[in-house]
Amino acid sequence: MNKIKLPARRFEDIPTSGGIRDIVDMADRLEAAGRTIYHLEIGRPDFDSPKIAKDAAKKAIDDGFVHYADMRGVLELREALSRKLKRENGMDVSPENVTVTVGAQAALTAAMMTVLNDGDEVIVPVPCFGAYPSACAMLGARMVPLKCRLEDGFAVRARDVKPLVTDRTRMIVINSPNNPTGAVIPRSEMEGLADIAVRHDLLVLSDECYEHFLYGSEHVSIASLPGMSDRTVTVGSASKTYSMTGWRLGFMVTPPWMTSYANRTHLLMTTCAATFPQYGYAAALDGAGDDVRVMIEEYRERRDLAAGYLRQMKPLGFANPEGAFYILISVEKTGMNATEFCGYILEEAGVALVPGEAFCYPGSVRMAYCKPKEYLAEAMNRMKSAVGKLA
Ligand code: PMP
Repeated sequence: MNKIKLPARRFEDIPTSGGIRDIVDMADRLEAAGRTIYHLEIGRPDFDSPKIAKDAAKKAIDDGFVHYADMRGVLELREALSRKLKRENGMDVSPENVTVTVGAQAALTAAMMTVLNDGDEVIVPVPCFGAYPSACAMLGARMVPLKCRLEDGFAVRARDVKPLVTDRTRMIVINSPNNPTGAVIPRSEMEGLADIAVRHDLLVLSDECYEHFLYGSEHVSIASLPGMSDRTVTVGSASKTYSMTGWRLGFMVTPPWMTSYANRTHLLMTTCAATFPQYGYAAALDGAGDDVRVMIEEYRERRDLAAGYLRQMKPLGFANPEGAFYILISVEKTGMNATEFCGYILEEAGVALVPGEAFCYPGSVRMAYCKPKEYLAEAMNRMKSAVGKLA
């Protein structure tokens, strides 16, 4: 091949096809041919964004906030985030150490780019969100997977992390509640993880995008534990909590020693997040609590509905998720691999799911239950009869 047509060598470790994209393409083709497809593949909340956020963003446009913002984010939003972190997360954070980012996605990439060097090891519990392995590969870092098991409810245990620590380990990535399993890390294990981070002088990257999506458990921000504020990057997002995925707003809280570097990285990637939407996010943080409570209650009912159907599908296995809006389903007993199973369910039932390879977890498929209950019930019924034919 012509040398100029080669992507950077680091792409050797980054898949550019497979996962969600392939399934979406297949679903699109079937829809174009007239089939009805039930979309349980993408984690995109279906609620409208809160009115208070939309009104504030519209007003910000009318008030002329249509130019670049402070590269760290508009002060009103960073102050609202600082209040939220105190109120909800037990974190004492100055707005100086909060950076508004283009979604949590940009925060994760910027945080990793800011601290990781070639060859650094990053411990990541799997199944995991696909951005972590991709960012490691892009940066020349080595992801060290910590395999969590369905039989344990995909629990992350501090004692299992310890043996993975070497003198090259730089960072542990945690994501509670977890995408794709919905597993939540309890306080006792967070304390154990904090203890390991302090003892071995490690950073923790804590992706807390689903912090509000809890169906009985407590959310613990590891940065609030003793000794952790100086070694934790906390990442959050407006996307899921407020059903604002298209606004592209998230944030990172960095330890003071890291803030100027992290700001520089995010500046290099994006200059700054879009200005007027930031006023909408600030309004949501202060005033959309009721909208969030209503959504979470609805998600709990959706989880119960989806789990109720899955229990009737004998060859499938799953652990009842405590949070987020996903269920990771083991398909090992069907005799198919994850891609074959997704293809079969898409063809036979018209239901789109994602193969576990996208989450470093072959043998499983992810279902996102962020759809209305009637839609979900229809999809689950179709899936049940397709799975029934396998017996
Ligand atoms: N982290 C996790 C665990 C996610 O599931 C997602 C989105 N699916 C993100 C980060 C990125 O979210 P956003 O950029 O929309 O804030």
